Amino acid sequence: MKELILEMEEYASLKNIPIIEKDSIAFIMKYIKKNNIKNILEIGSAIGYSTILMASVAQDVTVTTIERDEARYMECLKNVKKCGFEKKINVVFQDALEVNLTGVKYDMIFIDAAKGQYTKFFEKFKYFLNDGGVIITDNLKFHGYVGKSSEIESKNLRGLAEKIEAYIEFLKNNQEFETNFYDVGDGLSVSVKKNE
Ligand code: SAH
Ligand code: MG
Repeated sequence: MKELILEMEEYASLKNIPIIEKDSIAFIMKYIKKNNIKNILEIGSAIGYSTILMASVAQDVTVTTIERDEARYMECLKNVKKCGFEKKINVVFQDALEVNLTGVKYDMIFIDAAKGQYTKFFEKFKYFLNDGGVIITDNLKFHGYVGKSSEIESKNLRGLAEKIEAYIEFLKNNQEFETNFYDVGDGLSVSVKKNE
């Protein structure tokens, strides 16, 4: 397991795959343990790095993870098999915005896919959260660009930074959820669903 994780870190750095920062995944794993979270939905698997680490927190933790890139999906499947987590992790090869989830509800949703679509992911998947469930989002600092979008020259980058800034405002103003922001790794938010 430890070896596989190191192998994945190396592979990600070699192939420029944006896996979660160590502080952030440590924070999330602690959160899972402390809050007794059992079933998790992840949007954006990449090669399954955060997926496998979240699933490893306790024996009865299960993760469904969605990835739209075929090569990454295949790599993720391979890694899930390598650590023997086939029964704990369900890897779905599809665009998350097109996935049809039925029935199942989750204790935690981890949003870590296309940064420009965070609000869309949140609005779509909030219905699949158990009462008192939580939505955690990664990369809210977007490598330091967030909060400085007007100074960014690249139009593409500026657009993404603006979308994350808008997502942060959306979370702050959202009455259904109580959101806290954490300055760990590339920036995390933790949005807990309020009871009606
Ligand atoms: N959670 C991973 C990193 C994910 S990187 C980790 O920390 O280890 C983000 C991934 O989201 C990319 O692999 C990208 O292909 C995928 N992605 C982006 N938009 C998506 C979408 N709409 N549906 C499914 N996957 C998406
Ligand atoms: Mg991330």
